[in-house]
Formats: sequence, structure tokens, C-alpha cells
Amino acid sequence: MPAKQTSKTTRLPLPVPADRRRFRQRLLTWYRRHGRDLPWRKTTDPYHILVSEIMLQQTQVDRVLPKYAEWLEKYPSLDALAAAPEKEVNEAWYPLGYNIRPRRLHTIAREAVARYGGQLPAEEETLLSFKGIGAYTAGAIRSFAFHERAAILDTNVARVLFRVFIGEGDPKSHAMRRHLWAVSETLVPTRHVFDFNQALMDFGAMVCVARNPRCLVCPMTKSCRAFPFNPSRETRTKTPRRRTPK
Ligand code: SF4
Repeated sequence: MPAKQTSKTTRLPLPVPADRRRFRQRLLTWYRRHGRDLPWRKTTDPYHILVSEIMLQQTQVDRVLPKYAEWLEKYPSLDALAAAPEKEVNEAWYPLGYNIRPRRLHTIAREAVARYGGQLPAEEETLLSFKGIGAYTAGAIRSFAFHERAAILDTNVARVLFRVFIGEGDPKSHAMRRHLWAVSETLVPTRHVFDFNQALMDFGAMVCVARNPRCLVCPMTKSCRAFPFNPSRETRTKTPRRRTPK
């Protein structure tokens, strides 16, 4: 019998092929029935994806929707955003909160114009070289804009993967976070990458939510290691962490 695949760093077992297939199938079936109709799902423009991802980092979808449309009307391209004065860009972000995000977007736009002709590149390493683009955002841009087989892991996705494939322990420890990245990488299909990653995010936001997950209507119950859900099985790290990775 072939040895079980494990994470290179943590040595925890990774989902076997049959479990991966089952998970993908259930998730995509659920998504096709229940996935949200969101404007950033109707585009493959890397800049539009970037704007949506950065807006969604600390803001709920319903508050992002009007600002996303308004922002793209005002700054339809990386060139337009790069050419705008910093003060105006910060003000245009209102009411999402005056914080680091508009500055981060502005810096990325200026760098893209200065180094890449006003385009965002598709290569992971190059995307990660931008200040303000972390592993999650790079995975989102690559899978949603370029349809590359790239994994994502934000707070929602980490929660889903932890519950379905691990079930007990500290989902927020550094070692577990690394393992969950490896799980996410293992699960990404070769086809339907866009839908699969969008489905993971919707599933974490709509079914496997942080408190009171909707286990009774969940398609994963038969294979979920956290079912029936009991919050006491999820231990917590003491160190406060970012809500969402870059
Ligand atoms: S059964 Fe419950 S804990 Fe498991 S994935 Fe579904 S909603 Fe989440």
C-alpha cells in the first residue's frame, strides 16, 4: 500500500485522493446551487480581482459591493489609480475606513506601472515581491484572474479545512496554518479552479461559519472530522492574530 502523503513541514497526513475527490465534488455541487452572485466573479481582470480582495480583507461583502463599483468607475485601471494623488485615493476609500488598504493598493498600482507596464503579473514569485501582496492575495489573483492552479487560505478557508480534515486542536497555531496551506494546495483541482476557490470562500462564509456552523444543512457531514460540531475541541492560541491574511 502506498505511504500516506504528509505535509513537508508538519508531517501531518494530507487528504488521500478519494477524500480530495469527494470534498471537491460536494463543495462544487453545493456552490452551483448556493454560491453568491458577486460582481468580482464576473471578471478575470487582475486589477479588479485585486481591488475586491483588498476591500474584502476587513469588510463585509454587503459594504464592499457599492464601494467596489464606485472605485472602479473612478479608477478603472492600475494606470488611473497610480496617477491619482495619495490624499484623493485615501478619501475615495471612505466609508470603508481610513486605514492601510488604500495606500497599499495605491503603492501596488504605482509599482505595476513602473515595473510591469501597468499590468499585474501572473507569476507567484513576482506577485509576492509587491509590498502588500501576500500568499493569500497572490493565490486569489492567480486562480481568479489567470485560472492558475493556485491555492488560497484566508480565515474562512482555514476554518473549513481544519474542521473537515483535522477536527481537533489549535487551528491558529503556526504549524497548523502551514499544514492547512498544504491541505489547500493538495485540494486545488486542475479544472474549475476559479469555482473551487470561490466555493471554499462562500462555504466558509455561509455554512461552516465561525460560531454555530450550519451542520444540519451541510453536505460535508459524512466526512467532516468536526461533526457534530463542538467548539471545545478547537483550542485557541493566546497570541492575537490578523483576521485575514494579505
Ligand atoms: S459538518 Fe459542520 S463543522 Fe463540518 S464542515 Fe459542515 S458545517 Fe462545518
